[in-house]
Amino acid sequence: MTNKLQYQRILLKLSGEALMGNDAYGINTKVLEFVADEVKEVVKTGVELGLVIGAGNIFRGVAGASKGMDRTTADNMGMLATVMNSLAMQDALERAGVITRVMSAIPMQSVSEPYIRRRATRHLEKGRVVIFAAGTGNPYFTTDSAGVLRALEIDADLVIKATKVDGVYDKDPVLYPEAIKFDRLTYDDVLQKGLRVMDAAGISLAKEDKLPIMVLDMSVAGNIKRAAMGENVGTLITS
Ligand code: UDP
Repeated sequence: MTNKLQYQRILLKLSGEALMGNDAYGINTKVLEFVADEVKEVVKTGVELGLVIGAGNIFRGVAGASKGMDRTTADNMGMLATVMNSLAMQDALERAGVITRVMSAIPMQSVSEPYIRRRATRHLEKGRVVIFAAGTGNPYFTTDSAGVLRALEIDADLVIKATKVDGVYDKDPVLYPEAIKFDRLTYDDVLQKGLRVMDAAGISLAKEDKLPIMVLDMSVAGNIKRAAMGENVGTLITS
């Protein structure tokens, strides 16, 4: 690789919902294959890539808790659901020819490796994609926070938050067609304006270490690679 990469190591956060495609629930194989191809294009450039996948397509702790479940139990279920998504993504990536390891924050040795930071960075150095499953391993957190946390731990240069929306708006663009999209924001803008980028815990963590976050629409082919190559294809959040 002769070209100097703008970002050497990137943490890509995929929402669970993004894996549903137009289905009402679960994992859409076509979407999975699409994402695997997108990831493959990034890996080919020499960028080292870690992934964190949510579970909104299967189970969210808050949804269970709102129906009377114990919150911790519900969150544990949400974290387990991220492991299913991670295994599905690993399968799609390996079928696309991308060597991938799943490391789970909740030890589950017969299906994944335990999360060990030094081992994770070793995999990345060898060009393997690492999927960090089971969030942070703790209830009361989201996979967005888990994404920022792992990004900091592996010393990533950028977090890409890949969603169904093409950036951050001043209000919900689905409900308000006149909503305005921001090209750039600061962490404080997000926190003070209460913009729904990710939870405050994740943003605060990123702010502390000045870790840039790019929010983009992952359904547009080539977007993730363009972002990885340094182009702002959505909203860039920095200090
Ligand atoms: N979760 C958790 N701790 C974590 C990460 C996730 O308890 O560190 C649980 C939580 O219940 C959450 C669910 O896992 O609702 C799925 O994650 P998330 O809602 O972030 O998924 P996404 O919105 O990205 O699809």
